[in-house]
Amino acid sequence: MTGKETSGSAGHLDMARKQLLQAAQVIDLEDDLLRVLLETKRELTVHFPVKMDDGSFKMFTGYRIQHNVNRGPAKGGIRYHPDVDLDEVRALAMWMTWKAAVVNIPYGGAKGGVQCDPKSMSLAEIERLTRRYTWEISFMIGPDRDIPAPDVYTNAQTMAWIMDTYSILKGYSVPGVVTGKPIGLGGSLGRLEATGRGCLLTLIRAAKVLGMDLNKTKCVIQGFGNVGGVAARLMSDIGVKIVGVSDSTGGVYSPNGLDVQALMLHKCDTNSVLDFPGSDNITNEELLELPCDILCPSALGGVITRENAPLIKAKIIVEGANGPTTTDADDILYDRNVMMVPDILANAGGVTVSYFEWVQNLQELLWSEEEVNHRLEQIMFRSFDEVYRLSQEKKVHMRTAALALGVNRVAQATRLRGIYP
Ligand code: GLU
Repeated sequence: MTGKETSGSAGHLDMARKQLLQAAQVIDLEDDLLRVLLETKRELTVHFPVKMDDGSFKMFTGYRIQHNVNRGPAKGGIRYHPDVDLDEVRALAMWMTWKAAVVNIPYGGAKGGVQCDPKSMSLAEIERLTRRYTWEISFMIGPDRDIPAPDVYTNAQTMAWIMDTYSILKGYSVPGVVTGKPIGLGGSLGRLEATGRGCLLTLIRAAKVLGMDLNKTKCVIQGFGNVGGVAARLMSDIGVKIVGVSDSTGGVYSPNGLDVQALMLHKCDTNSVLDFPGSDNITNEELLELPCDILCPSALGGVITRENAPLIKAKIIVEGANGPTTTDADDILYDRNVMMVPDILANAGGVTVSYFEWVQNLQELLWSEEEVNHRLEQIMFRSFDEVYRLSQEKKVHMRTAALALGVNRVAQATRLRGIYP
């Protein structure tokens, strides 16, 4: 890329492809397989009307993309955001393939999204949008082919509507068609917290490698939703001081530490973290450069760029979001000796517990929260250790090592299956 880095959707796909090329070099991937993995397998674009509360019809555009299904059914979230477009969903689907392979769960990668602004829509409008979008993509999804889950601005309620719409089409209940469902509909205990918990678990491992006492560390978290909010709470529970937090409206900073529970209540009351008593308001840009030991970008992609990478103070970055760091920024951070826990490892707790949820649905069993968390810990610790070992052995970034591990597993599956006919 020349000039200013693009953090938009073309930027994401460009990043995802560059990352794949780097990983391919590390594992000496044959050109034939590289050509396969650079492309997405299946792409569906749908344009559909939704009846708005005022009686008018509005047209929306949505996508469901499967990048690769060689290791198992496609898996990945659905996001509702004004910036959703084809290239962003392609990149996110590709990252899901590597993520599932890094933690070694038997899934391929997919992603979906609808270009919309859910914040300006009523709950009833979001429900109608969800049901119509589900109908439009219904022939592509299913418990043995492609299993959606929550992502940016979608949640357990969204999954309940998807499951209901799909089940009505089939004529019987199909809980395994989505994960991240409400517990009463076959959701798994521990799923809501799983992505944030995965961030915590990889942080524990990263701190161990660096000989860092987490009780003496300060952490800054971008995003205060499903991922960032949970990560903030779990990290503060084990003694990490959370000094900065932000949401889409801006951020707050207190060098002596924020009371995370009180901040959650404040956000519930005011819909924003801003103006939290005892803290200073800051912008999302300022937040990333705050003095701290740990930075956890857990909102949107493309926020750590070559412009702000030299100014980041953290020693460890745990990527709760998908694609928060551009390729140029990665090189700068590596040269500055920052320990990067890359997205496809750090935020893989979500899809891992999604896998547990799907397994429980298929077996019609319910695991205890302890069992879920214990299994998650085993997988996250093992995956971190494998990635770290490979990064040391090959002398590459943690991101390149994670990708090399994941891409290699997908490549092996592809070689075993062969090319049809
Ligand atoms: N949307 C989450 C992710 O990006 C979870 C995906 C899933 O559980 O399938 O990893």
